[in-house]
Amino acid sequence: MPGKVKTEAIVLRSIRYGEADRILHLYSASRGRIGAIAKGVRKPRSRFGGRLEPFFRLDLVLHEGRGELMTVTAANTIAVHPNLRADGPALGAAARACDAVLRLCDTEEANPAAYNLLCRYLAILDGSESLEGDGCADGAAALSTALAFRLKLALATGFAPELASCARCGEAGELVGFSGAAGGVVCAACDRGGFPLSGEAHGFMVEALGLPLAQTPDAGDRALRQAERAITETLEHHAHVQLRAAA
Ligand SMILES: [Zn+2]
Repeated sequence: MPGKVKTEAIVLRSIRYGEADRILHLYSASRGRIGAIAKGVRKPRSRFGGRLEPFFRLDLVLHEGRGELMTVTAANTIAVHPNLRADGPALGAAARACDAVLRLCDTEEANPAAYNLLCRYLAILDGSESLEGDGCADGAAALSTALAFRLKLALATGFAPELASCARCGEAGELVGFSGAAGGVVCAACDRGGFPLSGEAHGFMVEALGLPLAQTPDAGDRALRQAERAITETLEHHAHVQLRAAA
C-alpha cells in the first residue's frame, strides 16, 4: 500500500549510490528492516546534512511506493552518538552490533525488543548511558558486553540457547558441554558433537541474559570465548546466520 511511513530507525548501513544518492539499510521501531533511498543526500546543500550515516538514531518520514526501496523524505536526529564515532573500539563494537542485526533481523516485522536493545547498546557504547560501576565507554566495548548484546538479540529473535537444562534430554543434572546443534547446554550422557563448557561460561550466559545490558558481569577470557562459541554455533544451526567475531 503506497503512502507515507513515519518511524524511528537506526541506520545500519549506508551505501553510496549513483551521483549523489545513498541506499540505506535501516532497522526501524515500527516496521523492522527497511531498505530506503535518500536522493541527493551527497550534494553539499542536501537538507539531510550528514544525518544518514551508520549508528544515527533518526525520526524518519519515508514514502513507500511500489518498488522495493522506500524514499526518505524527512530525517530528524534523535541521537548522533558522537563519542562512539571518536573511539576505535566502540566504533568496531557498534559496527559488529549493526551487522548482527542486519543478519538476524531481516524481516519487515516490528521487533521492539531487538530495536530497543540496539538503541541501548549504541547509547552505552557512546557513553551516554554509563556502565554500572564503570562509567567510561571503554568497558562498554568489552567482549562481555558484546556477548551479552548477542545473547539478548538471540533471545529477542527467538534463538536464545537453552541454558536451564540439557537441550537434548531435559535433565537439569550436571551440564558439562554445549551443543550448537542441540541449541543449548548438554549433560554428560548427551554430550555428542558438543564442546566442553565451563561453569563460569555457563554462569556468565545465564547472568548476562538476566541482567540489564549496562550491568553485564565480567568473566575470564576463556569463559567468554566459550560463551561466544556457544552463541555463534547456536545461531549458525538454528538461525542459519554466521556472525563476525564478537571482538
Ligand atoms: Zn542430556
